[in-house]
Amino acid sequence: MYGQGIAKGLWITFKHLVNTYVDDIRYAGRKYVSQDNFQVRQGPKSQGAYTVQYPDEKIAVPERFRFVPFRVDSDYDDPERPGQDWCTSCGICAKVCPPQCIWIVRGQDPNTGRPVPQPEAFFIDIDICMNCGYCAEFCPFDAIKMDHDYELASYDRTSRHIYDKPKLSKELRYWKTIAPTRAVEEMEARGGWDHKDVQKEKAKAEKAAAAQKAAPAAPVQTNGGAASPAAPAAEAPAADDAEKIKAERLAKREAALARKRARDAEENGGA
Ligand code: SF4
Ligand code: SF4
Repeated sequence: MYGQGIAKGLWITFKHLVNTYVDDIRYAGRKYVSQDNFQVRQGPKSQGAYTVQYPDEKIAVPERFRFVPFRVDSDYDDPERPGQDWCTSCGICAKVCPPQCIWIVRGQDPNTGRPVPQPEAFFIDIDICMNCGYCAEFCPFDAIKMDHDYELASYDRTSRHIYDKPKLSKELRYWKTIAPTRAVEEMEARGGWDHKDVQKEKAKAEKAAAAQKAAPAAPVQTNGGAASPAAPAAEAPAADDAEKIKAERLAKREAALARKRARDAEENGGA
């Protein structure tokens, strides 16, 4: 019948109008005092329309809500590594960021001048960030996460909206608070609450300690100083092996650097 759709729509609107008052009566005097009531009225169980009195009232954001990213540091009261930066300055987030609003300056060892896996500076232009979450998805070290804080307006966007390292850095416990499920999922995937590199270091140290413990005692000197045949030379302590591997790696790196320097000198000389 002509006009049936209009009548149906009007009926639904009217029902919402009536339910708004029914809900008002049901939650009379309670809607502003109880956060639970407030959240129920914002959810699918609520029947009528309801106006949020922002900023006095705020709707709770879901765990997967994402706004501007923040950088993860170890907890500031962590007994082993207080406030340690989780970022290794790999630059992947800056590379994948679609609007290119991340700038990273890699840190350098002041003595050797070599790069270190820590950013010296880290900036995000929050006016350009489109909250896509790519940086957090691609970070291999769980060092950048999407924040829930959306109240970022200010009167001076040129200076206040370029977030630097201190402004972007937050403790791991903050991430656990705003995204408890995801934090646990990530921890399980990582194999513990520690940073990946810290876990690797610990595993290496444990392995070396276990190998040292299991290593046979020093060969017993018998008759004229000849070593006992029961102590073969192949079973040297694992700590020595680790040192040897490290020295080999360093030598290889030095050789590669020397080759690079020679190549550069050749190119510059030929130019
Ligand atoms: S936040 Fe993650 S992806 Fe970005 S530079 Fe640091 S470690 Fe790399
Ligand atoms: S959320 Fe998206 S736009 Fe914002 S910094 Fe990360 S990758 Fe860039």
